[in-house]
Amino acid sequence: MKPLVDPFGRAITYLRVSVTDRCDLRCIYCMKERMRFLPRDELLTLEELDRIAAAFVARGVRRLRFTGGEPLVRRGFIDLLHAVSRHLRNGALDEMLVTTNGVQLQAFAEPLARAGIKRINVSLDSLDHATFARISRRDRLNEVLAGIDAAKAAGLKVKINTVALKHDNAHEITDLIQWAHARGFDMTLIETMPMGEIDADRTSQFHSLAKVREDLSAFWTLTDLPDRTGGPARYVRVEETGGRLGFITPLTHNFCEGCSRVRLTCTGKLYLCLGQEANADLRTPLRECADDGPLQAAIEAAIMRRPKGHDFRIERLARPASERHMSVTGG
Ligand code: SAM
Ligand code: SF4
Repeated sequence: MKPLVDPFGRAITYLRVSVTDRCDLRCIYCMKERMRFLPRDELLTLEELDRIAAAFVARGVRRLRFTGGEPLVRRGFIDLLHAVSRHLRNGALDEMLVTTNGVQLQAFAEPLARAGIKRINVSLDSLDHATFARISRRDRLNEVLAGIDAAKAAGLKVKINTVALKHDNAHEITDLIQWAHARGFDMTLIETMPMGEIDADRTSQFHSLAKVREDLSAFWTLTDLPDRTGGPARYVRVEETGGRLGFITPLTHNFCEGCSRVRLTCTGKLYLCLGQEANADLRTPLRECADDGPLQAAIEAAIMRRPKGHDFRIERLARPASERHMSVTGG
């Protein structure tokens, strides 16, 4: 089948799949304390998720990242991975990845490895119990740390994701980087993005990574690395720790020209750009017909409407640029 290429010549090789909007944490930048989650019948079933993934793999997607919400709270998630791993075995897919908050990783590390996962991203915003509990609104740091140990023991390559928050963890960023690099983990810092209604004020939490980089450069040597992932991260090597450090700065850096990724929500909406509302409903063509013809046509038509770039602006941080939560779209 013809590979997917958008009107700007960008090949679509990376799909993020949100398998649920539910979560066992309530991070302040991501959710409200009281979330109204989607009714279950709106969610794609595991079979439907598998079918959509296969449709994209057939059109040239080489990497699939499963995310959420929290993917490990979706019942049957490991079965889904086992099913999708057939594309790894036949060479159509290079990699399946998972992004998790780590809370349930102690139990799931081995099953993830057995299902064909080699690398995971674990979100960790603080190593301090009180700070972790304040940011995630849940006192579950011990479980996350035990989960990270279990992932390492299961042979999974771990990358730590940390959202930089001015008032909560900015002072801890150096410690977090040292902690991660000492364990052989890559680390990526993320700027807060204006997605979805939350209880907190985002402008007061925004912490510029340009400033973080400048601060780190005062005592560390940061060497730019050419590594690109087809996404918004730029990487450096911290010479003193020997570890890799990524910066995801959607508000201060335009990363769109090489963007190869699209995102599927757990209800079957395909978002063509993280920062734009442009989306397409894939659930209807999927449910309408057992044959993949209408689904493929809907995917093709969506990709042809892909916008050139995102529309995040720092001055608009106070109001969400996007109605949807990251937990629905998949971070
Ligand atoms: N629950 C999993 C987790 O936390 O890793 C997977 C989903 S979460 C939405 C994926 C990533 O998005 C996490 O690293 C999280 O910190 C990040 N994230 C969520 N909301 C964000 C926001 N408004 N701005 C920036 N990053 C955000
Ligand atoms: Fe849950 Fe991840 Fe959102 Fe935190 S960032 S509330 S762990 S989905």
